[in-house]
Amino acid sequence: MQPGMTRITNLNDYPYEENFKGNKIYIAPKDSIEMESGEALLFKGTMGTPPRLKNGVPDPRFFKWLKFESSADVKKANMNKFKCQACGKVCKSQKGLNEHLKTHEDLEKGTMADGSTGDEDVNQS
Ligand SMILES: [Zn+2]
Repeated sequence: MQPGMTRITNLNDYPYEENFKGNKIYIAPKDSIEMESGEALLFKGTMGTPPRLKNGVPDPRFFKWLKFESSADVKKANMNKFKCQACGKVCKSQKGLNEHLKTHEDLEKGTMADGSTGDEDVNQS
């Protein structure tokens, strides 16, 4: 994803269509498109009025149910991918996270063996 772009994901179960600045925007259900972030901001603000069903409820097929993620958001999300669930430390890569997780495993092994607290003297020789 290029910097300055925004990814727009259609969270609805129906395709989303809108005429935006003379262009027809179409996003398939659960699919996403990319748009220049300035344009995306404008697109976010436009709001069509969904046609109503017979009972007066807005037709869900026309809901603007979209998720906007800027390239910065995506970068941040990618970083959190390597976040340690145990202590919240963020690692730069999967490899780094694996290495980090090992330190927790070692810690657990040291304290969990036989239900001991790890306070006993382990040098039984
Ligand atoms: Zn950790």
